[in-house]
Amino acid sequence: MKVYNILALLPSTVLASNVLSVAFFAKEKSQLYDFISTNYELDYGCRPVVMAVGNEHKLHAIVPEEQLYRLKRSLDPDIVRVETIHNLNKRQTNTAPIGKGDRFKGGTIAPRGLGTRKATEYSEFQSAGILNADEVYAAMKGLEKEYGLTLFTPPHKTFEGNEIIGGVANKAEKIKKDKQYIYFTSGIHARERGGPDNLIYFISDLLYANKNRIGLRYGNKTYSNKEVKQALGAGIVFIPMTNPDGVRHDQANSNLWRKNRNPSSARPNEPLSVGVDLNRNFDFLWNFTKHFDSSVSPASTNASSQAFYGTAPFSEPETQNMAWIYDEYPNIRWFIDVHSAAGTLLYSWGDDIDQSHDPKQNLFNPDYDGKRGIVEDNIYKEYIDQEDWDNIAFQANRTTAVMISVGGRDYVPQQAVGLYPTSGASDDYAFSRWHQSKKVNKVYGYTMEFGYPTNFYPTSAEFIQNILDTNAGFMEFILTADEIGLKD
Ligand SMILES: [Zn+2]
Repeated sequence: MKVYNILALLPSTVLASNVLSVAFFAKEKSQLYDFISTNYELDYGCRPVVMAVGNEHKLHAIVPEEQLYRLKRSLDPDIVRVETIHNLNKRQTNTAPIGKGDRFKGGTIAPRGLGTRKATEYSEFQSAGILNADEVYAAMKGLEKEYGLTLFTPPHKTFEGNEIIGGVANKAEKIKKDKQYIYFTSGIHARERGGPDNLIYFISDLLYANKNRIGLRYGNKTYSNKEVKQALGAGIVFIPMTNPDGVRHDQANSNLWRKNRNPSSARPNEPLSVGVDLNRNFDFLWNFTKHFDSSVSPASTNASSQAFYGTAPFSEPETQNMAWIYDEYPNIRWFIDVHSAAGTLLYSWGDDIDQSHDPKQNLFNPDYDGKRGIVEDNIYKEYIDQEDWDNIAFQANRTTAVMISVGGRDYVPQQAVGLYPTSGASDDYAFSRWHQSKKVNKVYGYTMEFGYPTNFYPTSAEFIQNILDTNAGFMEFILTADEIGLKD
């Protein structure tokens, strides 16, 4: 009798088993650090993010039910206890729908955001649902037709032959490539639904408000028409969906797909071994087994892992496209890669704790290879100039304060390494470029994690709230960037 691999036979529209969204709790951060160290292959979302709750610390993850039983047996509940938040299979029936058809009619209709509408009109967005991948392209064409938004296509097509679409929003009629200072991307992790919507509706708001000489309102936060013009004057380059193959796959199968769809490292009968985690593929300490302490796993060499780093730094067309922007628009100064779901704004560095006293402890110094990434030790901490540190933290505090004031939920500004390091991430790559070569512009890189922990598929109400929260955050981010400085 032939024995079949049961997992491989399941239709991909069904999650292989009951998948649970859980939270691990411990008194001390270090106890959760120890937990991750022995359970580094769990799905912690974009990266493990630890939050303080009361007198405890909390860490979210997604775990198949049978794996949770095994985990529970290995845990001492007096040290680390686990709570199930919800069953993701059941929750999926309750999440915001993916849009059907094309609400922008091939780009003959332009999208219009929430910030230029009354709250009573938000229900239209709920019923129309999350933009499907085709609608992302149509929305961009609609903005081009209605407002003359400049569109561009980065040079590299994806494995499945999709082109990436980007736009440049500015006050000027004619776009000068050296006058763009802001760079936003989204959709790198396919399952983080609503990311592309957040960016497209925000740009739509700016263009509509500029044309009609009005301001913006996001919940309790308002901006004047003068501030709209100030934001557009900063020059915004954006790519709403950097990983279209992954987004199409996730939208078609609802299987929490995170990576791209490159099969070059895939193994037979292992559907999860398709794809690269694009946010571990950037040229930032990519070769982690060399650069980091052997006890930490800032990415994975296992093709079936959610954090698989690829075959080389920038091995993927999607990450090459994101880096190409820095050559094309050489004065970009401020960058956000939009992710979900955690409720935080992360700033550099992500490989180890920041320090500003010893420039020799830096990511390019081979003397520290094999020593990076342990956040609780004093052997290595990542160097950052004090003025840069002040600037990036000030920006994160200002932006999150406004996201909170919208009235939806809490957002925490914090250093990206948090509890546990990452390698090859887009935000660190952005900031590291200038540290490698002073000939290129210095870019302050951020990761915005909108939404609620592990709710990659938001409910309709959360989908709307995420747009309001992030759009106020984008606006504040640009105005604060203008205040700190768009140039050196
Ligand atoms: Zn992510």
